[in-house]
Parts: sequence; C-alpha cells; structure tokens
Amino acid sequence: MAVRVADRIAEVPPYLFAELDRRRAAVAARGIDVIPLGIGDPDLPTPEPVVAALRAEAGVPSNHRYPDYEGCPAFREAAAAYMARRFGVSLDPGSPPRGQVLALIGAKEGLSHLVWAFCDPGDVVLCPDPAYPVYAVHTRFCGGVPYRLPLRAELGFLPDLDAVPADVARRAKILFLNYPNNPTAAVADLAFFERAVAFCRRHDILLAHDAAYVEIGYDGYLAPSVLQVPGAADVAVEFHSLSKPFNMTGWRIGFACGSPAAVAALAIVKNNTDSGPFTAVQRAAVAALDLPRADLEGRIEVYRRRRDRMTDALRAAGIAVPRPQATIYLWCPVPAGETSAGFAGRLLEEAGVFVTPGTGYGPGGEGFFRISLTCPDARLDEAARRIAAFGRP
Ligand SMILES: *Cc1c(COP(=O)(O)O)cnc(C)c1O
Repeated sequence: MAVRVADRIAEVPPYLFAELDRRRAAVAARGIDVIPLGIGDPDLPTPEPVVAALRAEAGVPSNHRYPDYEGCPAFREAAAAYMARRFGVSLDPGSPPRGQVLALIGAKEGLSHLVWAFCDPGDVVLCPDPAYPVYAVHTRFCGGVPYRLPLRAELGFLPDLDAVPADVARRAKILFLNYPNNPTAAVADLAFFERAVAFCRRHDILLAHDAAYVEIGYDGYLAPSVLQVPGAADVAVEFHSLSKPFNMTGWRIGFACGSPAAVAALAIVKNNTDSGPFTAVQRAAVAALDLPRADLEGRIEVYRRRRDRMTDALRAAGIAVPRPQATIYLWCPVPAGETSAGFAGRLLEEAGVFVTPGTGYGPGGEGFFRISLTCPDARLDEAARRIAAFGRP
C-alpha cells in the first residue's frame, strides 16, 4: 500500500448519506425509477429576495476579500436581532471574548469544530442515540468517548439525564441535544431545556443545542430556544442553520450563539481552520433572516400538506406513524419481524423507494425508518402507493 490513512479515518463508519447514495445509484442504474425520500435536502427554491441579494453582493469587490473571522457585523447583528424577535433572547453581537454570535459555514461545520474546542482525548461527550452522526464521529476524531443517551418513544424521544451515571457525568465535557429532532421528529418543551441546563450547570458541562429545525413547526407550534432558559448562556451554545427553513442547504450558512466562552473557543478552532463563510453569502443571509414570517409560513404549509398526505397514506398501508409537530421528517415503525436495515433495503430494491434505516443514526434507531418530506406531492403519493402495494403479498 502506497499511502496509509489515519486510524480515525479507517475506523469511522462510512458517512451514512454517502453510502446510501451509492446504493440508490446502483438500483437506479438497473433502470428502476427511485423515489428519493432519504436525504433531508429541501427541493424548493431559495426565496427570491435572498437570491437577488446574493446577485448584488457578489458584484461588490470588497466582499471578495477574506471574511471577518467571526462573521461580518451585519450578519451577526441580523442573527442577534432574529434571536431577540423570535425568542426574546438578548445576545451581544460583538467580537470575542464577550461576543455571543459567530457566523458558520453551516451548522454542521460549527457542531463538528465545537467538539475540537472542548473535547480532549479520553473526555466523554454525551450524544443522543439515534442522532445526526456528526456529534459522535467528531468525538471519536478527537479521541473522545461518545456516551450514548438512548431516545425512547416512551419518553417522547427525550434523553433521561437522571440515568447518566455520576462518573460519566463527571468526565463529560459536552451534552448534545437537537430539538425539534432529527431523525425522530420529536419536540422538547422549555421545561425539558430547564432540566438540561440545570444538569449541565451541576456538572460543568457545555450544552450544545442543534436548532437546525427550530423554524419548522406545524399547526402553530413554535419550538423554543434553549437560550430562553434564564442564565442558559452561562453553559449553553445553540446552533442555527439557514439550510432547512430557507431552502439554502448548498449555501453553507448558519450561526452559533450563546455562551461567550464557547463562541470564543469555537472561533479559535475556526480561525485556524477555515476563514468563515463568503461575505456575499452572509449579506444575502441577512435578507433571509429579515424576511417577514409569512414567507416562512408559506414554506411550512407545503410541508404540512405533505406530512398529512403521507401520514394518511402510511396509516392506510398499516404503518402506525405519528403526525409530527415539527421537522421535515416522519419517523416510522418498521413492520413487525423486520429490521430497519432489512426493511429499508427491501423497500429500495423491490419498490424503488429510498428511505433511511433508523440504525443509520445509531443502534437506538432500530425498529424505525425515516421518510423525508423534501419531495414533490406527486412523488410522495407514488411512494405511498408503492409502500402500500409492497406491504401486500
Ligand atoms: C441538516 C442538519 C444540520 C446541518 O445544517 P447545515 O447548516 O446545512 O450544516 C445540522 N443538524 C441537523 C440535525 C441537521 O439535520
């Protein structure tokens, strides 16, 4: 062998979505029309005012230079204004060490680099299971030990923090939470966040809340920010993403906010790694954050209709899926006697419907598969029809 990769690369499981994409391509190559309900990547366009802002900002020569390390002031101020307007949370948009807002090249970038800022070899990181894979993978990259917090249906897919053993809590540096949740579509109320903040305060743990879906709630549901808990910014940092609410996954823009110490430490990792998001993208993101609420509600209404027709169709096919209050996902139980991987594999191979097996998000996802609502209505209807037919002998 001519080159030898690091153990951390050799040991990491194949990135779930890359692996699934290969399988999907293989089935499609056999001439099967595959309906993609796997990856949560919005199918609708970015709002026109945001695209127009990018067009204009791309033409401004000063935007072509390296971005400000912590993000341009206009973006940080717009993020702080959004947090104040939407959650009543007041944040200092200034620079570290006191500043509380940091521009990110997407939430994924910030979540991964946060682990590098807080986790030394041997440290414990509390990671929900199932979960977005980034938290545990980067913990391993850093030589840390992910400790799995099972998310069980009986507890509303909230972790039981009282069940964390004292020696684990003592060694833990970060608690990751994510509500509204991917992949379970569960929500958390402020009372749960209060308990989580108290837990982190008691054990000197950083609470890292991934709020990627905080703006996708249905039937009037408005998800809270963990920073609404009084004093939370002492121990908590929250990650916001423009990807899902504004159909901007490819733009790579989000922000971290909350604990000044966490923001400053994350900024040190980033200053030594990337140089932040393109300033023209940050300035266009200001236009997104400033859009009237009605604009967002129009997009949520599209997902609500999809959620309703898909849950109705799945229930008619004998799959007892709950109607979620938030996110762009349905977390569906697999039929009795099947495993997640087995069922998702058969659905792809035999029905041409691509879903993600629950175990792709950790062993705690066994018994479930996830459907993403980022597909036009007609395709969702066709997928539901195929799933119903698939269930019959
Ligand atoms: C999509 C997603 C992200 C990634 O957000 P980006 O801003 O696009 O990097 C983060 N966390 C969760 C749970 C997600 O589902």
